[in-house]
Parts: sequence; structure tokens; C-alpha cells
Amino acid sequence: MANFERLNQYQQEMLRCNRCGYCQAPCPIYTLLRREPVTARARIQLLRALTEGKLSLSEVGSHYIYGCTDCQSCRVGCPGGVRTDQIFAAAREVIADSEFFPAGLAELEQRVRTTHNISGEPGENRLLWAENLDVKPEGLVGKGGAEVVLFTGCVSALYPMAYGILQDVVEVLEAAKVDFTTLGPDEWCCGYPLLSAGLPVSELIAHNLDRVEALGAKTLVTTCPSCYHVWKYQYAPDSIEVMHSTEFLDQLLEAGPMPLRSLNMRVTYHDPCDLGRKSEVYDAPRRIIESIPGLEFAEMEDHGENAMCCGGGGNLETLDAKLSGAVARLRLEQAQAVGAEAIVSACQQCERTLRMAARRDKVRIKVMDVVQLLRTALPKDETET
Ligand code: SF4
Ligand code: SF4
Repeated sequence: MANFERLNQYQQEMLRCNRCGYCQAPCPIYTLLRREPVTARARIQLLRALTEGKLSLSEVGSHYIYGCTDCQSCRVGCPGGVRTDQIFAAAREVIADSEFFPAGLAELEQRVRTTHNISGEPGENRLLWAENLDVKPEGLVGKGGAEVVLFTGCVSALYPMAYGILQDVVEVLEAAKVDFTTLGPDEWCCGYPLLSAGLPVSELIAHNLDRVEALGAKTLVTTCPSCYHVWKYQYAPDSIEVMHSTEFLDQLLEAGPMPLRSLNMRVTYHDPCDLGRKSEVYDAPRRIIESIPGLEFAEMEDHGENAMCCGGGGNLETLDAKLSGAVARLRLEQAQAVGAEAIVSACQQCERTLRMAARRDKVRIKVMDVVQLLRTALPKDETET
């Protein structure tokens, strides 16, 4: 029997929803499916009826609650300030505790709890991305006293399509002479995929926090906005500053500009939901892009706080990969509409989702990470600027 206590806390707030429908237009799922039950307005009415005992939990209800990218566009668009994100998070906790928890997510949970990563591979594989670095940095793993711990994240460390992001960030850190290390095989999933499924993650938090604190680093840097968000707002360590790689690199560029080559390309920037809307980091990635000579920058129609999700948010890809890919296609169309040759982002999951859609639908556009752009602009030797 599911425990409704968490959701009941939001009963008054759900009553504040006046069904105006302002949450409909910014919802990427509604944009594609054009069906009222997928809107935040309808999900709230469904949840309200559950808490009032007028409906009971069912597979259908579970499908609607999880069939969402957790992008929070509905929260931003709500004139009544209804915290849709928190209401849906509470609903997922209720469903995760019931027989209607989706099987695909139960498998994901099993993988993370047993192997401590989302792909189910052994921990040693977390270092495969470093194998073809030109020069493997000294102290790459477990260096006590390093100033920075680079938290690699499951997607970049374990999915070959995203290895390049870690390789590029390491090359930039090396070029800037930053003293850094990683947890290597001892890093566990940050917990975000389970949290967003409505599951507890205290064991993962305790492990990672203990290992990073033991190294004595003052700063934790991650290229993954989901790791960043969960480290900053759930782990919330007292003595460690948590930074997204774009914030860290922006700070480095401000402290002492790097000599950068000109890159002649028209680019646009895709705000990852976990970095932008959820963590309010909008300027740092744009400042890095602007610092690279030769680049022509164009904003897409939906950007900043109103950016459209890439489709890879929440657990939608696990549950409905086709729908997730269709959202990515919409986003690529927005990038093409401003004539961008490359859509640049700051999230391996966004880039993976956009790249798969571009490949599948034969869309001629490059998908890049901000750090990849910066590394490309670094002179290959000291004579080249
Ligand atoms: S925008 Fe807010 S108040 Fe309006 S229908 Fe959506 S959730 Fe309800
Ligand atoms: S979080 Fe995003 S996908 Fe989910 S209901 Fe709100 S706008 Fe739609």
C-alpha cells in the first residue's frame, strides 16, 4: 500500500491550480502529443483526486506521472507559483513505493544498487575514457590534497559516445595547470537517476561524500548538470565548493585569459534543464563561448529560463525512447532555424540525446560540449594562436 503522506502535504497547493493552462504551451510532451492528460494541469488534477480518495493508484496514473522529462518548464510558466516539480517528485515517491513502479525503472534501480552506476559495468571501467589520452595526468586517481576533485559522472565515464567530454576537460585543466584528481573506480553514481525516479539515495550520497572529503579537496567540479545539481542541493557539503565545469572554466578565463585560436562557425547554445532552469547557471557557458574568437553566436527561440528540454530529462528515455527522441528532434529544428552549424551544450546527457536524434533523422548539425569547443580553440603548440 503506497504511502500518500508526502503527496498529501501538497493538497492545498494543488488546490491553487486554477486550470488556466499556461503550463500547456511550454510542455515538450504536450507539444508533441497534443493530449490534455500529459499537461501539468491534468497531472495535478489526477494527483488531487488520488489524495482525496476519488481515484486509486493504477498503471495508467503511473504512466502519466513518469511520462515527463522533469524539465520544470511548467513550473516556470505557472502564474500561480504552483511548484509542479515538487508535487511530481512527491508523486513519484508514492508510486516508487507501490506495485505500479515501472519495470524499466526497477531494473535501473537494481543496476545502480548493485554496480553503483547506471550502465551495470564494473567500477574499473570508469577509467576507460582515460585510456587514449595523449598523456595521462599524474595523480589522475585518488591524489590526496589535490585542489579539485573532478566528479566524472556515469554518462561521460561509461558511455563511449561521451568519453570525449572528460578527455577534453582534462586537457583544458592540464593546460591551465589545475591541480586535480578523480575518485576513479571508487566513484559511485551521484544518485540523480534514482532520486528522479522517487527512490532513496542516502547510501550513494554517504559513499561519495566520504571519499571526496577524505581527499581533502576544496572544490568539486563536474561536467554533468545532474551530478552538479544533486551535489549542490542534496549533498550540500559544508566545506567543499561544488561547481559545474562551465563555472570553473569561466572563472579560469576571467582570472587569466587563455590564448585561443579563432574558430569560424555559427553556433547556438542549448541550456540543459538541470543546469539552467533548476540551478540557474545561464551566463557562464555563454561567456566561455563568447571568449572564443571567430564564433558567431545565435540564441534559439526558446532559451535561458524558457529553453526547451532535449528530451533526455527525467527517466523518459528509459520508459519511452521514441518520445524522448522526438523531443530532441524538435530542439534540433530550433537550432537549425537560427542557421547554427553546431548546437553546443554543457551536459553529456543532452548531447547524447541530441546526437542520437541527429544521427537517426539525418539532421546535418554538429552537437558539441562547451568544453570541447574550448579545447578545440586551444593552440596545439605554443607557436599557434
Ligand atoms: S499554469 Fe499553474 S495554475 Fe495554470 S493550469 Fe498549469 S499548474 Fe495550474
Ligand atoms: S516537467 Fe516538463 S515535461 Fe513534465 S509536465 Fe512539466 S513541462 Fe511537461
